Amino acid sequence: MKIAVVGSGISGLGASYYLGKRHHVDLYESDTRIGGHTHTHKIQLEEEINVDSGFIVFNDLNYPNLIQFFNELGVDTADTDMSFSVSSKNNSWSSNEFKKLSTFLKPAKLIFLKNIIKFNHAAKQNIAGISFREWLENKNLKKEFVNDYVLPMAAAIWSTPMDKIGEYPVESMLAFLKNHGLLKLIKRPQWHFVKNGSASYIDAIIETSNINNVFTGESPIINKSNQQWRLKTSNHELDYDQVVIATHINDVPKLLANYKDFSFMSDFSYNTNKTILHTDESFMPVRKKLWSSWNSFKYDDYEYVTYWMNNLQNIKSKTNLFVTIGNFPQIQTQKIIKVMQYEHPLFDFTSQEVKDKVSELQGLDNLYFTGAYQGYGFHEDGLTSALNVVRMIDHAI
Ligand SMILES: Cc1cc2nc3c(=O)[nH]c(=O)nc-3n(C[C@H](O)[C@H](O)[C@H](O)COP(=O)(O)OP(=O)(O)OC[C@H]3O[C@@H](n4cnc5c(N)ncnc54)[C@H](O)[C@@H]3O)c2cc1C
Repeated sequence: MKIAVVGSGISGLGASYYLGKRHHVDLYESDTRIGGHTHTHKIQLEEEINVDSGFIVFNDLNYPNLIQFFNELGVDTADTDMSFSVSSKNNSWSSNEFKKLSTFLKPAKLIFLKNIIKFNHAAKQNIAGISFREWLENKNLKKEFVNDYVLPMAAAIWSTPMDKIGEYPVESMLAFLKNHGLLKLIKRPQWHFVKNGSASYIDAIIETSNINNVFTGESPIINKSNQQWRLKTSNHELDYDQVVIATHINDVPKLLANYKDFSFMSDFSYNTNKTILHTDESFMPVRKKLWSSWNSFKYDDYEYVTYWMNNLQNIKSKTNLFVTIGNFPQIQTQKIIKVMQYEHPLFDFTSQEVKDKVSELQGLDNLYFTGAYQGYGFHEDGLTSALNVVRMIDHAI
C-alpha cells in the first residue's frame, strides 16, 4: 500500500517507522524540522552539548511501547532525577528535603507530609463525573496545601496553568497520578532520559527505517478523489491508498477542509506556552539547596516551571542550563539561548468528547488520526495511538 503520514512528532514518526516495514510511506511535515515536541538544541559550552526543550523523560513503568521502540532503535538512555520544588509567595519546598532525616524534626514539614499522605489516600478512591477542582473542594483539604503541592505538581506535569488543571475530569487525573506512582511516597518508578538529546532517537529512525520520502517545510493540500487520497505540495502531487493524520487535533479542520467539515475538532483546546532555553539562575529557587530538576513558581501574576537541564540530562558543565515554560518575567537578553512556543493539549470534559468522536472516525475512507492527545498527552500516548492506527491498517505488523 502507499501511505501518507502528515505530522512528524512521535505519533507520525512511530506510525511511519512501523508502517514502513511493509508499505511505501511518505512523511509530510509543515515545519523545516522534523520531531514536533521532540526538540534538541546543539550548543557550545566547554564542548558541544545537546540539550532538550521538549520531550525529556520517560519511566520504566508507564512507557512500555516507547522502551521497546528505543531498544529496537538502539537508543542509549540513562537514569535521571525527578526532584521537584515549589516556590510561592508564602512557601517554598523541595522533594529533596524529604531525603534528609533532619527534615522530619521540623513540625511544619511533618504537617506538610501528613497532608501529602491524606491527599494520597483520598486520591485512591474511584470517582467520576466531576472536575478535579470540585473533587479537591469536596475533600476538605487545606487550601495552602492544595496551592503549594497538588496544583503545582499537576500543573507542572501537563505544563498547564493551575486554574485550568482544575477543569480536568477527576477520574482521568486520579488514574494518571495513581498509574504513575505519584500517590506513593516511596517505590516510585525510575525515570530516564535519552543520552545526547531526545532527537537522537529521530536520527536512529531516519537511519534504520524504510520511510520512502520525508517532505518538510510545507503543509500538504489534501483531497479525496475516488478511492485515492491526493496530497499536493508546491513540488509534487502524489496519490495514496491511506492517510494518517498525526498533527494536533485542532489543526485537522483546516488540513482536511477540502474533504469534510471537521470543525468540531477545534473544540479540543490547547494552551500556548512560551518556552525559553537560557542560563538565568534567577529563574531557580532563591535557596540553592532547593534547586530541583523541576521547579514550579507562582507569585504576583506569574506562574511558570523551570527545568534544570544539567540535572535532568546529566550535563557536566559550569554553565547551568534551564528551560522555563509558562507565564514568566523578562529573562535577561544576553542569557537567552533559544525561544520556542509549544502547544499543550488541555484535557477537560470537552476534549474528552472530541476524543471519543475522533475514535469513531478511525479508518473511514482509509483516513486515520493519531496523536498524544488521544491519551494523556505524553510520548507513550503518542506512540501507543500510532501503534493502534498501524494495526488497524495492517494486522500483520
Ligand atoms: C516542553 C515540553 C516538554 C515535554 N516533556 C515531556 C516528557 O518529558 N515526557 C513525555 O512523555 N512527554 C513530554 N511532553 C509531551 C509531548 O507533547 C508529547 O510527548 C508528544 O511529543 C506529542 O507528540 P505528537 O506526535 O502528538 O505531536 P507533536 O510532537 O506536536 O507533532 C505534531 C507535528 O505535526 C506537525 N504539523 C502540524 N500541522 C501540520 C500540517 N498542516 N502539515 C504537516 N505537519 C503538520 C507539527 O509541526 C509537528 O511536527 C512534553 C511536551 C512539551 C511541549
